[in-house]
Amino acid sequence: MAEAEAPVGRPAPHRVPRRVVSGMRPTGRMHLGHYQGAIKSWIELARIAECFFFSADWHAFTTDYKDPSKIAEAQREMFIDWIAAGLDPQRCTLFVQSHVKQHAELFLLLGMVAPIGWLERVPTYKEQQEQLREKHLELARELGRRFNHLYGSTGKPVLIEPHPYLTEVPKILGLDGRKMSKSYGNAVELGEDPEQARKRIMVAVTDPARKRRHDPGHPEVCPIYHLHRAYSPPETVDLVDRECRSAGIGCVDCKKMLLLNLLPVLEKHRAARQELERAPGRVEELVRLGTEKARAMAEETMVKVRAAMKLE
Ligand code: SF4
Repeated sequence: MAEAEAPVGRPAPHRVPRRVVSGMRPTGRMHLGHYQGAIKSWIELARIAECFFFSADWHAFTTDYKDPSKIAEAQREMFIDWIAAGLDPQRCTLFVQSHVKQHAELFLLLGMVAPIGWLERVPTYKEQQEQLREKHLELARELGRRFNHLYGSTGKPVLIEPHPYLTEVPKILGLDGRKMSKSYGNAVELGEDPEQARKRIMVAVTDPARKRRHDPGHPEVCPIYHLHRAYSPPETVDLVDRECRSAGIGCVDCKKMLLLNLLPVLEKHRAARQELERAPGRVEELVRLGTEKARAMAEETMVKVRAAMKLE
């Protein structure tokens, strides 16, 4: 899965999911884009469904294949941020992808029954940013159906067909106006030192049309406005929208308003992180227990799969 495996689009209208599986490549400390794009939805989903969230460490090899030595530490940092941000390991299962090898076995077996034409429909790398997630899910659904058709008995599917559950995600631009990404150096980390975040935000780019104080702006292109939408109360967002367009406020004041709302969030996250770090082995233990549970459940499915394919 891609970095910041964010659910996108609108909530799927058809159902509240019973079981949710989602993951992220372990890229280290999480930033506000990860939180708004995925973690926040996960926290909500963990309250209403049985949830499994994993570190996609196999997928990390798509970019870190030359030097895998940093994956374990990046994974630990990521899990700490997930929990510090409010993802409760008592309400959901956190696990490591490569420790549940049943997934690789199922992948191999489904690959055997996948017609070549289906695989050719998976988008090329160029198309992946737009389509990869949706297309892979579509392929997984078709493979599940085909498997059940080939090996299941009537009315008793072996594999459950997955459905997308997509949530509205506010767009978060990085401090230079591009997509927020650690590799661009424009991200605000969830656990960032608030004083450092304050300094960086005060020099962040805004709408280039606002060269002078009296130039009217377009908040929709400004990263500060995007952060207001995620972290400020609606009346502040409305005020910024209105006063930016009429040049009623300057960017410095606008940024100060944002900091009043954002810095306490960073401070709270930082304190939660520090508490987790003060308890050596706690996060590892939570993930180990989660991985054991995920493995046991995956094995239950694989017992049925192997039996259906006469591989026992
Ligand atoms: S007033 Fe605020 S929203 Fe408008 S350009 Fe300046 S920082 Fe951005």
